[in-house]
Amino acid sequence: MADSDGCLFCSIVAGDIPSERVYEDDRVYAFKDINPKAKVHVLIVPRTHYADVAALAKADPSLLAHIVTVAQSIADDSFHGAYRLIFNTGRDAGQTVFHVHAHVLTGETMDD
Ligand code: C5P
Repeated sequence: MADSDGCLFCSIVAGDIPSERVYEDDRVYAFKDINPKAKVHVLIVPRTHYADVAALAKADPSLLAHIVTVAQSIADDSFHGAYRLIFNTGRDAGQTVFHVHAHVLTGETMDD
């Protein structure tokens, strides 16, 4: 776990910053990305703060597996189970929020 002070996604999970909820349980919170890159673009965020997917995998692999299961369920409901699952990891890969989050892109055919 890394420092969660001032973390944007910790504030969203806590309900201190508004978001459009898609799913939640005791381990994760999922909401619509404010700048969607697909017809359906959902972020799945663990309630516990980890800086990135590598930190999460090391600390709690079952939570990472749970995120994949939630992504599958969102895609099952949105687009017959087809989806892209992206974890931007590191600033140079485009990670801007350092609280691990899975981008679920679905809802339409993606050719490229
Ligand atoms: O992988 P990366 O860190 O770049 O992703 C952060 C994502 O969080 C962006 O897709 C951005 O649109 C989204 N975001 C959001 N709501 C906010 C701030 C950022 O959905 N309040």
